[in-house]
Amino acid sequence: MSPYPEDLERWREASRIAARARELGLRLTVPGASRREVADAIEASIRDAGAQPAFPANLSRNDEAAHYTPDPDDSLTFVVGDLVKVDVGAHLDGAISDTADTIEVGGGHRHENLIRAAREGLRAGIAAVRPGVRVDDISRAIAGAIRARGLKPMENLTGHSIERYLLHAGKSIPNVPGMSDDTLEEGEVIAIEPFATNGVGMIENGVFGNIVRFRSDPGTRDPALSALFARFRTLPFTLRWVSSDEERAALGRARRRLQTYPVFVERGRGLVAQAEHTVLVGPAGADVLSAGP
Ligand code: MN
Ligand code: MN
Repeated sequence: MSPYPEDLERWREASRIAARARELGLRLTVPGASRREVADAIEASIRDAGAQPAFPANLSRNDEAAHYTPDPDDSLTFVVGDLVKVDVGAHLDGAISDTADTIEVGGGHRHENLIRAAREGLRAGIAAVRPGVRVDDISRAIAGAIRARGLKPMENLTGHSIERYLLHAGKSIPNVPGMSDDTLEEGEVIAIEPFATNGVGMIENGVFGNIVRFRSDPGTRDPALSALFARFRTLPFTLRWVSSDEERAALGRARRRLQTYPVFVERGRGLVAQAEHTVLVGPAGADVLSAGP
């Protein structure tokens, strides 16, 4: 049985929308910009295009590698030299795209080596994709490109296969070799996401990053809660998206049903850059769905 999604055009469209949202986020991330307003604008652009965010816009900064989204009263504004990962997801009826890039706020060149390392790792990983490829060959290509710049790939953050309504499906795409025995089949959709750092190359859990998801269907006993589940299913969401007091109170009552995500912080407090594309394993190699305009 072919793993190609039957509605491939929907996956392509979700990826076009995610890519445009990513580029918007990168443009808006300037000195003095509000982190909360940038996240709101990214997500609004996805909704305006007829899709839904597949997860809250992640705007992780400096030694934060991933999984930070602003909460409703986030007051941070970006400053010159901040290294910001703009990681964006969009979905159309569960057809998900996940894509990211990194920007140095203010347009300097302090962090150019890190940003280039992540992008070159992504390019090298994409170039290794073909039907039947060992995931390990992709990982080796990613790690080689990052190490060629004298930097470290993050060992315990990985890309992943994507299935309908499942952002992290069965397969991991590690950023270092020696971790996977999987191979890829034509028709699979994967996210490749190298992270490059000048730290130790491992993340650890930091504080709560304002991202949660339902572990399971809460049923119908609590109408406010079932309305929230109908909106988000098991995809990640955030309090900025939950505006009524009634729904916020319902979430407070349902803590045990929710998975909470900590921010991933570089263990040596090194700086981290990320680049990510959603890729279809095509007959002749990678079909980069989220390449964008
Ligand atoms: Mn991502
Ligand atoms: Mn991802």
